[in-house]
Amino acid sequence: MTKIGILGAGQLGRMLALAGYPLGHRFRFLDPASDAPAGWLAPHLAVDYADESTLETFANELDVITYEFENVPVEAARYLEKFVSVYPPPIALEKAQDRFVEKSFFCQLGIPTPMFTTEINDTLGFPTVLKTRQMGYDGKGQKILNSKSDLGSENFHGMILEEFVSFDRELSVIGARNKSGQAKFYPLVENHHRDGILRLSLVTGNVSVELQRQAEEYASRVMSALNYVGVLAIEFFEKDGRLLANEMAPRVHNSGHWTIEGAVTSQFENHLRALCDMPIGSTNPRGVCAMVNLVGTLPDVKSILKIDGAHLHLYDKAPRPRRKIGHVTFVENDVETLQGKLDLLKEFVHD
Ligand code: AMP
Repeated sequence: MTKIGILGAGQLGRMLALAGYPLGHRFRFLDPASDAPAGWLAPHLAVDYADESTLETFANELDVITYEFENVPVEAARYLEKFVSVYPPPIALEKAQDRFVEKSFFCQLGIPTPMFTTEINDTLGFPTVLKTRQMGYDGKGQKILNSKSDLGSENFHGMILEEFVSFDRELSVIGARNKSGQAKFYPLVENHHRDGILRLSLVTGNVSVELQRQAEEYASRVMSALNYVGVLAIEFFEKDGRLLANEMAPRVHNSGHWTIEGAVTSQFENHLRALCDMPIGSTNPRGVCAMVNLVGTLPDVKSILKIDGAHLHLYDKAPRPRRKIGHVTFVENDVETLQGKLDLLKEFVHD
């Protein structure tokens, strides 16, 4: 039994705890939001990340600490490290919290990215994508600029400008590495976004061996450079058979939710195995898989559960526009059956 602390008590923390209980682990959460959804699963301290004396008390009851979102203040993670191991290492947070630092880091490691600059001018041509360097997620804090006039007279402090990539698809690689350096990777996931929010992830075997090799090589470089422990996700654009890294997440990732039912070992269990320096479990898929996010409104639960093989996950979050409140996974033997299930689901899931 390992006493595991999790910074952040959202749905990712909740699914981590759900994966850890069969292994006999205990959990504690720290998240400023008093109504955070993981708070029903384990003791939850609703305090600010800057509250050092509470952080110390929290750490002293634990064997290891991890986090479930990348905007945990780096200072808090570093402070906790004085008392107990924090994984993934806080340097990973530092790299992932600033899009300019992150993309520069990819470049240092020879991982291709879209062109980017912090000098906001017309050198990248149009369209370009203007993003906040920090705190942007689910498409928040970004805007497409179509012409020079869109550059306007805004204040571009803290922004990054990126080449607009007319990609063929969006793919993500998810891997887990333990303290001993053993690493395994899941098959590349094909992701479909709408309004900047992930809606559908597919694992159907439509990825070449070469692309998979490339993705694993890039993720391995990041893991080695950071002496990484835990699950890491990197999101790519695929363009003409090449991968361009858009961003990384030093945590379990939405595009890996399919692994709960769809892989031999889920990303949540593998994250915990990594923290506890246990062997990383098989990342092989159990079939062709699809994961649909439930965003904004709660569809009719009975109708979803009527679909044979629908694995419904609800996060116990109040519905709100653009908010992820649950997901549905299908694992099937062939793509036609999988598509049939997705078509049935579409009748109830509109957002
Ligand atoms: P991000 O917040 O960087 O993950 O972006 C959210 C979504 O916006 C991505 O998943 C893409 O669909 C789109 N996007 C972001 N950056 C670019 C880009 N440079 N070119 C084209 N589309 C982009």
